[in-house]
Amino acid sequence: MNSELRYEYLKAMGVQRWVTRNCDAAVAEVEPPVEQLPANDQSAWQVLEKEVSTCSRCALHECRTQTVFGTGSRNADWMIIGEAPGADEDKQGEPFVGRAGQLLNEILFAAGYQRADVFIANILKCRPPANRDPSADEISSCQPYLQRQIELIQPKLILAVGRVAAHGLLETTTQVGRLRGKAHSYGEHGIPLIVTYHPAYLLRSPLEKRKVLKDLQFAQAVFKQQLAG
Ligand code: URA
Repeated sequence: MNSELRYEYLKAMGVQRWVTRNCDAAVAEVEPPVEQLPANDQSAWQVLEKEVSTCSRCALHECRTQTVFGTGSRNADWMIIGEAPGADEDKQGEPFVGRAGQLLNEILFAAGYQRADVFIANILKCRPPANRDPSADEISSCQPYLQRQIELIQPKLILAVGRVAAHGLLETTTQVGRLRGKAHSYGEHGIPLIVTYHPAYLLRSPLEKRKVLKDLQFAQAVFKQQLAG
């Protein structure tokens, strides 16, 4: 059940708080959907940051050190979206700061961007235990936060890195390899979305870096078209 429907049910039953006890179980805290937050301004960001930092919509809040909101320019043209915080990100509160993060920085640099030029976020704001894949329930609980970030930033291009990001954003189960090389469309404003491999995969398969650089060139071309059109 998605988090908004669950919220409506629990609210109708007069339940104010519903929390399970272990990190691997589905969980809900009765909180209004993030879509009801105010429009694009400073206070909207503050409200959203507070919502995220105190979130207990899913069981991951029980084992996190802190939430990982996202980092970079709030006026960015590009948003980079990964999977979920790992151990380093959970400790530091910032996405992509571990080895995969360093590689992401290098990839962005090759495309002419610094980390601070883009906005980097994840499908999940909390670390799944032992870096397991996010569950469908965790993804749907966390989804309104990312959606709100996208609404506030209104990026001109989204780069989904890896399977979890691509599948979560495009609501598909098609392999990453088949999603590459195409400008997909995200949301009602049709933001161009490009899929590429996750930097953690590149650490294991360095020869695939060439493909990622090709994806970045493709993303640049799509972005230029977007600016022109
Ligand atoms: N992998 C991700 O997908 N996101 C991070 O923030 C770190 C590693």
